[in-house]
Amino acid sequence: MPYDENNIFAKIIRSEIPCHRVYEDEAVLSFMDIMPRSPGHLLVIPKAPARNLLDIEPEVLATLIRQTQRIAKAAVAALGADGLTLQQFSEPAGGQEVFHIHFHVLPRWDGVRITPHPAPKGDMAELADQAAKIRAALG
Ligand code: 5GP
Repeated sequence: MPYDENNIFAKIIRSEIPCHRVYEDEAVLSFMDIMPRSPGHLLVIPKAPARNLLDIEPEVLATLIRQTQRIAKAAVAALGADGLTLQQFSEPAGGQEVFHIHFHVLPRWDGVRITPHPAPKGDMAELADQAAKIRAALG
């Protein structure tokens, strides 16, 4: 399947749709998931177009995973989490719903389950507060 320039994350990259930004540089954008399955659930995406793990250029993936690690560590520290779950879904058969590659970073706490999909829409003030804390931890 070809990459669709009008997917929702392409619109977020072009600032046509708002998001709670955590981190941005020339190659990568990170923002809070609008339907968080755990407190601090965020997404990390490359700015270069790629549908998923099956078509992303290896060099783009290398940058993406390096920044994902940095952001995940900041999220765990900022929110006082005990660990994290990292997810990536490719194609509908793999559970993908938005067709611009993304890593899910889900901060986790001992003994606390993640909210099953589909989670309810997050509280916007809470998402803004979590994004600010993670941005501060990134320095
Ligand atoms: P996946 O494609 O990996 O199944 O999941 C897509 C993710 O994108 C879901 O966790 C969903 O909550 C999130 N999502 C969908 N639309 C938006 C949006 O407009 N803004 C943000 N911030 N997240 C979104």
